[in-house]
Amino acid sequence: MNAAVPSEIVQSSTDRLKITEIFLSLQGESATVGWPTVFVRLTGCPLRCQYCDTAYAFHGGQWRDIADIVSEVVAHGVRHVCVTGGEPLSQKRCLVLLRALCDAGLKVSLETSGAIDIEGVDPRVSRVLDIKTPGSAEVGRNRWENLPLLTARDQVKFVLCGREDYEWARGILETHRLAGRCEVLFSPSKSELEPRQLADWIVADRLPVRFQMQLHKLLWNDEPGR
Ligand code: SF4
Repeated sequence: MNAAVPSEIVQSSTDRLKITEIFLSLQGESATVGWPTVFVRLTGCPLRCQYCDTAYAFHGGQWRDIADIVSEVVAHGVRHVCVTGGEPLSQKRCLVLLRALCDAGLKVSLETSGAIDIEGVDPRVSRVLDIKTPGSAEVGRNRWENLPLLTARDQVKFVLCGREDYEWARGILETHRLAGRCEVLFSPSKSELEPRQLADWIVADRLPVRFQMQLHKLLWNDEPGR
């Protein structure tokens, strides 16, 4: 991978972010599923989804200079980087990191809860925006003003806990005409909804959504750092 860290980033990005971990793995979901990807997990999240599998990122972490983060990502030698959390946008300087990663020539994606304004995100970034369902216990945190900002390079993701969530999500899909705006992902919440059941519902209803299971969980079953 030829991406180098532009010198202006090294010199100007003295801002810092609180980071839980940076690691190399395979992207387990979304449009870039299967690509070797560096994950930058930012610390902190204002939500408490009942199925959260990254509660270890709520607290702790280490302050890191943005230039150092970019250097570490580039040193892994792959093209894809995913900025995730926690809720990465809960740290305002995340926007600086995203821009710096794009400037370094990387293909950048952002995983966000959908609770925080996405308007300032660099347009080169592919945004994967959650819509929290009633079953998540955080449906009241959805920032509906984000939806008109989505473009064809973005994705919306619903994690579904059961039939009620499925029907709710189907209604949101129609009300907001989401499938015409960007790709829509439906995922089963692990241990709450049988993947095959969700697949059957989607096919029966001919929904214009993409079913996805988390590849990294099938491969490594939530091993830390994978
Ligand atoms: S938004 Fe993500 S990190 Fe935050 S509580 Fe929900 S699932 Fe966990």
